[in-house]
Amino acid sequence: MANVLLTEKCVRSCPYCFAKEHMDSSALPQLSWDNLMYIADFLEISGERKISLLGGEPTLHPQFVDFTTYLIERNFHVHVFTSGIMSNERLLESQKYLAHFTTEKLSFTCNLNHPDISTQSESEKINKFLFAFGHLTTLGFNIYQANFDFEFLIQVINKFNLERHIRIGLAHPIPGEVNKYIPVEGLKKMAKRFAGYFDLFERFNISPGFDCGMPMCIFTEKELGRLFKLNKGILKFGCGPAIDIGPDMMVWSCFPLSNMHKRSLYEFNSLQEVNRFYKDLHAKIRNEIGGIYSDCDACKYRLNEVCMGGCIAHILNRLYNEAPVRIKEIYS
Ligand code: SF4
Ligand code: SF4
Repeated sequence: MANVLLTEKCVRSCPYCFAKEHMDSSALPQLSWDNLMYIADFLEISGERKISLLGGEPTLHPQFVDFTTYLIERNFHVHVFTSGIMSNERLLESQKYLAHFTTEKLSFTCNLNHPDISTQSESEKINKFLFAFGHLTTLGFNIYQANFDFEFLIQVINKFNLERHIRIGLAHPIPGEVNKYIPVEGLKKMAKRFAGYFDLFERFNISPGFDCGMPMCIFTEKELGRLFKLNKGILKFGCGPAIDIGPDMMVWSCFPLSNMHKRSLYEFNSLQEVNRFYKDLHAKIRNEIGGIYSDCDACKYRLNEVCMGGCIAHILNRLYNEAPVRIKEIYS
């Protein structure tokens, strides 16, 4: 799967996103029709039938609806990552042309922030989006500070009868930038708070699935047992690469590493080549550094690839200002 950024503009300024200072700049690039068609051809010859659209806020792109329809017509499954915050005009247009699709063709992850950091107008817009697109939508939530709360997510799932799953991301540092995330020393405490919600998840039959970079050993054996049960045995403690393609046709391996190892999509002949390039790069970095804990080097879970050792971005961030004494891939 490839993630395509339609625009770098956004409607929010989330504390865990490094780009918040320039997200609303009108100078930010937006994906053109020519580039979208090139990407669709590129994925098609790679045999890839899934495409994710994201931003910034992808629905801000003036051609969001046309791009989505075009990709579906070309037989791609389109998944959209959105805040759910859009103008009435964009929502009505989306509703008219997209709401009739089934999840076989189109789906959304609506990433919510806690209502405490959302305005009344944002909350109203999200409600309207979920009312119109709830049948295609799963909720997402990013943990970036110790006192997070899942109760409001469960209320939203119940209110709009959404899929009983939450895609839980862990905010990671972006080397060289300033953003909010839980430092490595705070992850076990975060896991304790997380485990405090297991009863609630069980009661409402909700599976909390992980995005990449969650270290396995921050949970106890007993907590892991409950987590696996909640997720019907499917749970990831992995590390991508995810493959992001920017509006300017640059590619990188994932959001936290978006400032490093960027390449042009034109340097590659297929998605498999891009994947191999970033997979080899991640493997090289992990061979040099291991994982976020010193135990990762010899950990049986890492050796059999059950847990990849947390997010590489923590390691690169720690080494960001050191003299370049290791392999060059650590620094650029
Ligand atoms: S380095 Fe790995 S774990 Fe971290 S964000 Fe990228 S893919 Fe995910
Ligand atoms: S690989 Fe590292 S983070 Fe993962 S379980 Fe082992 S010690 Fe923990």
